[in-house]
Amino acid sequence: MRIVKEGETRTLLCHNCGKTSATYRMRDVDFSDKRGTVKNILAAVCDRCDEVAAIPAQSNARIKEVFEQSSSSLEVRVPAHYLDILYIATQKIDATLNENFNKVLILWYLHALTNGRYPQQKLKSFLSSDMANAKASRRLSMKITNRQQAELNQLMLGQGMKKTSDVVKAVILKIHQDLVLEQDLSGLPELRNMAAAIA
Ligand SMILES: [Zn+2]
Repeated sequence: MRIVKEGETRTLLCHNCGKTSATYRMRDVDFSDKRGTVKNILAAVCDRCDEVAAIPAQSNARIKEVFEQSSSSLEVRVPAHYLDILYIATQKIDATLNENFNKVLILWYLHALTNGRYPQQKLKSFLSSDMANAKASRRLSMKITNRQQAELNQLMLGQGMKKTSDVVKAVILKIHQDLVLEQDLSGLPELRNMAAAIA
């Protein structure tokens, strides 16, 4: 990889101007999906239209890091009893935890389902269970990283669900079965360790 310096020039193809000269300058660059910005990286800026025309290879590692760590908010409308499920499950893990742990619990299950600790196959069927249906009158919102977003997408596509919010709902219904109905308490020791570490 040839390392470039601020102020160097090169010739390239600009998407606005065609073949042109560009100068390496410090710029804040948005991700193509607009979910974040990488600040102060060297970019080849077109000398005619002043837009970023290319990103040198040396900037890619920082872009990747910022992209994976950047977060977006996930909003899911859920029936009120879903929040009760999360609260009761959280109290079984550690009675001193508050509702902030809800998100941790959901994300732990999401990861455990993605990495094969729990089977994914039954997830979708939870959504048509009797426990699933009620007016979705409450809002659950949480910050998730792009890596967690990727896990959500992977589960959604793998299990034939249409929305990431359905994945979150199915995960909550699995938490109901596992921890509230106590049909699978195998995750409890690890959840208790995690609760102790972050409380
Ligand atoms: Zn240009």
